[in-house]
This record gives sequence, C-alpha cells and structure tokens, in this order.
Amino acid sequence: MAEPLGTGDKDVATHLHSYTNLAALPQTPPLVIVEGDGIHVVDENGRRYLEAMSGLWCASLGFSNKRLAEAGAKALKTLPYYHTFNQRTNVAVADLAERLLALAPVPMARVFFANSGSEANDSAVKMVWYYHNAIGQPERKKIIARRNAYHGVTVAAASMGGLDGNHRDFDLPIATAPARFLHVDCPHHYRYAEPGETEQDFSSRLAQQLEQTILAEGPHTVAAFIAEPVMGAGGVLVPPAGYFEKVQAVLRKYGVLMIADEVICGFGRTGNMFGSTTFGIQPDILSCAKALSSGYVPISAVMVNEKVHSAIAANSGKLGSFGHGYTYSGHPVACAVALETLKVYEDERILDHVRELAPAFQAGLRAFAERPWVGNVRGVGLIGAIELMADKAARTPFAADRKAGYRFAALALEEGLIVRAMGDSIGLCPPLIITRAELDDLFARLARAMDRFE
Ligand code: PLP
Repeated sequence: MAEPLGTGDKDVATHLHSYTNLAALPQTPPLVIVEGDGIHVVDENGRRYLEAMSGLWCASLGFSNKRLAEAGAKALKTLPYYHTFNQRTNVAVADLAERLLALAPVPMARVFFANSGSEANDSAVKMVWYYHNAIGQPERKKIIARRNAYHGVTVAAASMGGLDGNHRDFDLPIATAPARFLHVDCPHHYRYAEPGETEQDFSSRLAQQLEQTILAEGPHTVAAFIAEPVMGAGGVLVPPAGYFEKVQAVLRKYGVLMIADEVICGFGRTGNMFGSTTFGIQPDILSCAKALSSGYVPISAVMVNEKVHSAIAANSGKLGSFGHGYTYSGHPVACAVALETLKVYEDERILDHVRELAPAFQAGLRAFAERPWVGNVRGVGLIGAIELMADKAARTPFAADRKAGYRFAALALEEGLIVRAMGDSIGLCPPLIITRAELDDLFARLARAMDRFE
C-alpha cells in the first residue's frame, strides 16, 4: 500500500492556494503551521516562529487566547447558526452592534455585518450607490481610491484597490462606461514627494490632484472616496501631515462621501481604537474586520452614519426590502467571539498597552534607518515598515527581479521571524499583546536577518 501523503505534499496536490505562485508551488512546498502559542506559531517540525505580522494583520490577541476559544465553544453549543434576514436576529449580533456603535470614532447610526474585509467594502460600495439613488442623485456613481491601496479581492473591492497584481488578467477594475472606479496618487512622501517638498506641501498637492479629478469627472458623478487611515498592504504608508484634513475639505466641498477602510487600523493598531481618530478622519461609512475577532473567526462590519442610514432605510421602505445581506451576516458564533474580543481589549487595557509599547516599537524600527540597505522606516502605534533600497543615497530601488522584500522575508524566516514582503518594503504588525521582552527578541531577529541581507 502507498504511504499516505504528508500534509505539505497533500496540500500541493489538492489545495488551490491564495496569493501564491501556483506554478512554483511544487518546488517550494508550503510551511505547515500546526499550532499557536501567544505571539508564536509552531510548524509541523516543532520550529517556533515569532509572528510579527499577526498572520495577515489580524491576530491582535496572539494565537492562543482561551477566552475567545471558550466564547466560541459556548456559542456553538447554544446557537450554532441563525440568520439575520427578514427581521430575524440573535442576542450576540444585537450586543455587538450596540458595542461597536459605542466605540465608533464618530457618531454612527447602524452596523451591517459580513464575513471579510472584502465583503465589507463591497457592501460599502453597494450602500453608496443605493444611497445616492435614494437621495435623487443617481449620477453619483464614481468611487475614488488611491494607487497602492488594498481593499480586498471581491470584484468591487479589488476594483477599488490600486495594486496591479490584483487587477492583471482578472479584468479589473470592472469595466463600465463611464468608469466607476478611479485612482489618485497615494501619500507616500518618501517615494513621491518632489525634492524639498514638505509633508504639508505634498498633502496639499495630493488634495489638489483629488479636486482636479473630481472637477474633470464632474462633481455630480462622484459618489465616494475610500481610504485606509494607514495603507497596509501598499507598504504601511502613514499619511503625511495635513493629508486627511486637506482631502476631507475637498470631499466636503463637492458632497463626496468618505469611506474609512479600518480593516487593518481598527481596534487599537495605531494607538487609538480606530485609525480615524489618530488621523482626524470623519467617515460617513467605516468598514472593519480582522482584529474585530482577533482573526479567530471570519467577521466584518460596516458602520454607517445617520445621513446614510436614514436614506437607505427610506429607500428600502419604498422598494419593500434592503436587498443585501449574507447567509452569515451577524453569525451568532462569530458575533460572540467578536464581543469577547472587545471585552478582552477592555479588561486587559490593550489600548494602554499599545500606547506604552509604541515608542519602543517605533524607536526599534527607526534604529534600522542607519543600515546600508534601508532607505526609509515608517510606522505608527504597533505597525511599521522598513523600505529596502539598492542605493539609499541615490534612492535607487532594487530591480524587480532581485525580489529584495522576498529575499529579506526568507532570511527572517530562517531567524524564526515572520514578516511580510510588500515589494521592497518589509511589514511588521505584531500581535497587540506583545511584551517588551518579546519586542527585543523581534528586533534581535530582524537585526540578524539584516546582517545577512545583501
Ligand atoms: N481592506 C484592507 C485595508 C485590508 O488590509 C484587507 C486585507 O488585508 C481587506 C480590506 C480585505 O479583507 P479580507 O481579506 O478579509 O477580505
């Protein structure tokens, strides 16, 4: 009888991987992670890794929180499933909606639930269109996003995203005439500012570009602007001084809705409960996911303000129903785990912990600025990035085929450290529960990887 396949071989033979070079997979077998322990994960050979990316920017409470496991188990035993269509509800979804409205960075009126950041952002787009139809401005259909933005992979979310790899050969952004998804420049001061241009001047230039785009398209056709407070997958781009103030002045002038994509920034990452608070954003619509459940169960949420909610509600009255929702919207198990996550944040004073640790995290990162391959270091709270450069003095990037980010991430992995390669930037987004001693360990491993990088 043939030997049963090991997990890696079985996986390569059967599993169509997300975000993977599928053609190369047989030569580069997957890393099989079997368990989690605090901020560490362990592979099938017993090797431990410090997970400095919280998985995919989500496992804020690390990988072994018992309270979340117990909340999930209890919910599974009490009511493992029920839906929220047609006036049905459950205790956990009502409690969670109430809690989220209490935490919202600006007054919000209602919360819609989905399962992923992509679905939350797709839902936001549909709400924006529905809203403008409802208020008698049906020509307002265009959504403006930023180059390098990441908003997910469903058709509308990926259309809003500004990363080539999410568009190419997927026929995205979705083609309509006139186009509904537009992109303006991203606020990466280090890369795109003119020589000597201050952050404030750079922000003014980007706000002017946004205004010119709105005017060129016709303000009566522009529905919404979407932005992550800190752009995550695009390279951890912290907005330059004045950016959101200037951008929002333009949006207000032309009656354009603001959508904050808080999928990464939400729930403490930037040192406040929401990135909108850190950067003075007043969203009409806010999407969040990931740390809402510490990544333990799939759940996302879209909060809408009263202006949006009242128009949507009135229109649904006219049409007979708000024809949008998922089988798993407000899933009782996911909501119970999310509620417990929010309680843990409060009981364990996670926000205070982030604020206490952020200066050491940011200083530790910035210490790498002196290294020969490091062009730029940036971050806020407990999120940051190091941008590698082939020649830092001349600001010459590495050639694409040198795959600097991937080579660095591979070296870090050999040092037992999981970081994320984003082009030539290395992302760090450790669990919010990381301790000071673990932070020192993180930077020691990062330094060893940097010593070996060439
Ligand atoms: N928005 C942002 C800012 C994200 O970082 C992500 C995922 O990384 C998404 C949306 C999409 O979330 P999901 O992968 O849960 O669909």
